[in-house]
Amino acid sequence: MTVAAPSATKLPNYVNGQWTESAASEWQDVMNPATGEVLAQVPLSGPAEVAAAVSAASTAFPEWRRTPPEDRIQPLFKLKQLLEEHFDDLARVITRENGKTFGEAKGELRRAIENVEVACGIPTMMQGYNLEDVARGIDEIMIRQPLGVIAAITPFNFPGMIPFWFLPYAIATGNTFVLKPSERVPLTMKRAFELLDQIGLPKGVVNLVNGAKPAVDALLDHPQVRAISFVGSTAVAKYVYARAGANGKRAQCQGGAKNHVIILPDADMESASQIVSDSAFGCAGQRCLAVSVAVTIGDAQKAFRDSIADTASKLRVGNGLDEGVKMGPVITKQSKSRVESLIGVGEKQGAKVLLDGRNTRIPKYEAGNFVKPTILDGLPATSELANTEIFGPVLSLIHANDMDEALAFLERNPYGNQASLFTSSGSAARRFRYAAPAGNIGINIGVAAPMAYFPFSGWKDSFFGVMHGQGRDAVEFYTEKKVVIERWAKEHSRKF
Ligand code: NAD
Repeated sequence: MTVAAPSATKLPNYVNGQWTESAASEWQDVMNPATGEVLAQVPLSGPAEVAAAVSAASTAFPEWRRTPPEDRIQPLFKLKQLLEEHFDDLARVITRENGKTFGEAKGELRRAIENVEVACGIPTMMQGYNLEDVARGIDEIMIRQPLGVIAAITPFNFPGMIPFWFLPYAIATGNTFVLKPSERVPLTMKRAFELLDQIGLPKGVVNLVNGAKPAVDALLDHPQVRAISFVGSTAVAKYVYARAGANGKRAQCQGGAKNHVIILPDADMESASQIVSDSAFGCAGQRCLAVSVAVTIGDAQKAFRDSIADTASKLRVGNGLDEGVKMGPVITKQSKSRVESLIGVGEKQGAKVLLDGRNTRIPKYEAGNFVKPTILDGLPATSELANTEIFGPVLSLIHANDMDEALAFLERNPYGNQASLFTSSGSAARRFRYAAPAGNIGINIGVAAPMAYFPFSGWKDSFFGVMHGQGRDAVEFYTEKKVVIERWAKEHSRKF
């Protein structure tokens, strides 16, 4: 029987269809980054709690796997409905614990729902293929089967969207699921699991374990976890990929980013600066697809610099729930001081601080972690900072003489999550699309986030693995291929 989630501020786990109080010895405060208010306490669950969740998922697997795909997607239709009904309520939870604006929170929820919708197509997407008469009277078929227990480990910056890059596909393909959300933003998934509890899934199909590194390590080492979907910083992505691999699990690990945009002189400067400003400073720069280096070419330098400085300086910063606010705080006090110290590093490395967001104080929100939009003009392309992920509202401007030089900067970038170009030339756009060393490409687009039916295609240090999240790649990742070769009675093959 399902029991209601405890109303106390101590967050429960959700295991085997029940909210369970954690036995964790360590708990962490969940803070509102705009106000400094403590919203709840999250348990840092240990291996025993992870084992209980994996065991529930493992027990649920055989029956769930036998459930026809058509029946498996029915709860997802209900989930879509509930997510729509609770849309604003969930978005508010995202803003309170993550800090992004209410509008941005609604944007990420829309993308979460899109993944639920796409996973409803599993009866078509999961089909295999076949060929009759690979030899006389012999047929061959390829079937996709689910793996078993899938674990997903997700970051703080999209508390509502990223778990849904994985959960709908994993369960629609017949797997069972354990989620370990970011311990900094656990409230959104608590709310989402209250909805998941109502959609008629058998107990154990989806489970939620709150925690940090020890919980992740327990998932990576658990023999019944077959696959790991991870999103977070590059250092942790590499670690998770290596440890999952050493334990014989398949893994898809999305890492950090440093995204460049190239601005050609023939671009529409007003629109380019508006779009790049949204990309660099939206979500306070805490998006893995945020543009953080703008490379201007030729005459674009002055026009773009003046235009972006003007646009960015007008952005209203504050509590994301307040009307008219366009940019919220960064996630923690530590993050604020790290971002501010990296701005200082940029200055030391030769950049001019064109717009300085350090030491921001927002009236009524003195305890908030605010950094206003910052622009580092003329950051040397060879400086370390040019290739360091800042993950805050900081845009560096670099100048190049031509597209060759600009593309060389991109080649030196260890990350390959996204690259964008602003131009009105089709041939420049084609050249860029062909040559840019990144997996998500934007042409006159600032945040080239693939729709749910396309793979989220990070490259280089932004991704470790083969199959990406979302769409057809998700189906490949969450299923195992089985090939069957069949020969039947001779009479039958002779008859026709
Ligand atoms: P993070 O790496 O600190 O944490 C991600 C997850 O890993 C969390 O669930 C956390 O509990 C766990 N974790 C943290 N340290 C760990 C350790 N030492 N061992 C095992 N597990 C550990 O990332 P974050 O700060 O939450 O998120 C921001 C990062 O995520 C940025 O680098 C950003 O670029 C990246 N990101 C990438 C994508 C993408 O699609 N490539 C999307 C969103 C965020």
